[in-house]
Amino acid sequence: MKGEDLASTEEKQRTRQIIARLRKAYPDAHCSLNYSNPLELLVATILSAQCTDERVNIVTADLFRKYRKAEDFASVEVAELEQDIRSTGFYRNKAKAIQGACRLLVERHGGRVPATLDELLELPGVARKTANVVLGNAFGTAVGVVVDTHVGRLAERLGLTAHTQPEKIERDLMALVPQKDWVDFAHLMIYHGRAVCKARKPECASCVLEDLCPSSLLKI
Ligand code: SF4
Repeated sequence: MKGEDLASTEEKQRTRQIIARLRKAYPDAHCSLNYSNPLELLVATILSAQCTDERVNIVTADLFRKYRKAEDFASVEVAELEQDIRSTGFYRNKAKAIQGACRLLVERHGGRVPATLDELLELPGVARKTANVVLGNAFGTAVGVVVDTHVGRLAERLGLTAHTQPEKIERDLMALVPQKDWVDFAHLMIYHGRAVCKARKPECASCVLEDLCPSSLLKI
């Protein structure tokens, strides 16, 4: 099953059931990154690549006290920024991306984070996932579904996609999940992926989605 096939009424109905059950299980599901404005969320999301949100939050607690505006990130020596974010891993690439994005924000947007997908995608180091996180959480605009490692794994296990590439998984999810749920859907998948449907050892016996899941270990 894939693409258009997945968007059958039956599959949409099953997807709605999945969302309803996860909402009940995780009523407080939200973005785990700490931020107080769109710029902080943009930076935190860039830092979260290949890093846990917990680690990012530790780093940004100091980082956001030191760098308050896009101008601050744009003008610092990149070596200093690298050291400030070092423990998140891949710090050279991340520092380059943050500084490049912030320079463009200063040059083209008066230091503000733009609220459209096209403008966000023009920023260095900002791909669709990061843009979706920022738009959905900082601006409340659902233009897509965030597909990270948890969302991708669960979508595949739950039979919501037959793809492995994030862009294709997102397309399948956008066809199945009601748009009003796009932002929350990613949070719910991430919470369930961390708590129950873990990468190495899914806990199917205690999963609220067990009867809806084609990959349940109890069915084998
Ligand atoms: S039944 Fe198992 S594989 Fe399916 S969603 Fe639940 S934990 Fe994951």
